[in-house]
Amino acid sequence: MARYTDALCRQCRREGLKLFLKGDRCMTEKCAFSRRPYIPGVHHGNQRRKISEYGKQLREKQKVKRIYGVLERQFRKTFTEANRLKGDTGENLLKLLEKRLDNTVYKSGFSGNRRDARQMVAHGHVRVNGKKVDVPSYIVRVGDRITLAEKTLNINSVKKAIETAQKKKTSPSWIAADYDKKTAEIKNDPIRTDITIPVQEQLIVELYSK
Ligand code: SF4
Repeated sequence: MARYTDALCRQCRREGLKLFLKGDRCMTEKCAFSRRPYIPGVHHGNQRRKISEYGKQLREKQKVKRIYGVLERQFRKTFTEANRLKGDTGENLLKLLEKRLDNTVYKSGFSGNRRDARQMVAHGHVRVNGKKVDVPSYIVRVGDRITLAEKTLNINSVKKAIETAQKKKTSPSWIAADYDKKTAEIKNDPIRTDITIPVQEQLIVELYSK
């Protein structure tokens, strides 16, 4: 399965913001971006270069791809689908990314970050309405019930993620997570304000509309 091989923290430094790719570590002083908040390999003073409109659009696309851990082909496919749907294409794009099964598992609190969630799905640990779904790009629907395989509940990182989510109550309003029963139900489609990442999706639409 194709995936990013870049060091994850390097991606945050490249985008100039914390992308929260490593779960708990991102909240600690070990965060590489907090320690070195500048582009890898570029001296501080060189970063004031004016960036072109095209450059801004490209960076915005890269940022979103990195946050959701999606490669170009899949991203482009999602954009085409977003464009086909009624409404604002940029918003549709973010909502479709948000409803990916790997993101939903992460947002439900069953994993500490999206990368682990993707692995859990790909390795067959996740059930949708009782059936194994091992496709991270599967788009969840209202009413879907997400559960984990019995053996998965004994994995330490999963137990820890669930404990943390239970304590912090971090799942968004479109997901009803029950941490005692270890289930999550999709209550609604996410709305734009549920997506808290700092993204100007219009720039991506402009990029693909050229
Ligand atoms: Fe990004 Fe997290 Fe690494 Fe910090 S620790 S640089 S937020 S991936």
